[in-house]
Amino acid sequence: MVSADEVMAWLAEVSDPEIPVISIIDLGIVRSVGWEGETCVVTITPTYSGCPAMTMIAEAVRAKLEAHGVPAVRVATQLSPAWSTDAISQAGRAALAAYGIAPPAERAIDISALHGIGRGRAASPAVACPMCGSAHTRLTSQFGSTPCKALYQCLDCREPFDYFKCH
Ligand SMILES: [Zn+2]
Repeated sequence: MVSADEVMAWLAEVSDPEIPVISIIDLGIVRSVGWEGETCVVTITPTYSGCPAMTMIAEAVRAKLEAHGVPAVRVATQLSPAWSTDAISQAGRAALAAYGIAPPAERAIDISALHGIGRGRAASPAVACPMCGSAHTRLTSQFGSTPCKALYQCLDCREPFDYFKCH
């Protein structure tokens, strides 16, 4: 039987359909890999509720594992705990930046836990321009090229760019 680590390594070759430069492993959406008899069960958390890419991701996962000789594949969806941009790996953040998508702002200090109100996030994080690095940017649309991204414009170099939304 194939180990879960081996399956994870194969899944690292599956790209996110919306952002081809990042794998679903670097995106942090693969929660677990397990076996139910002969069936390999891959548990995935969507980046965005109702994200239309999920169907494509499930099909890509199935195709990849079948190509490696896995007899049966089931893609399960786990909604809780919700995916957050914190799950993106360092390699994934670098790939997003190289692709011209502002990597999600990392939370410096999350004080919300101290107040017992769960994981809060700033309403509008400072987003740095991936072209020139300026923090002088503005949100132009809540929805960028896909529902998972917001559209920003840099006020210094005037370049519009996608921002991978925090959830
Ligand atoms: Zn700029």
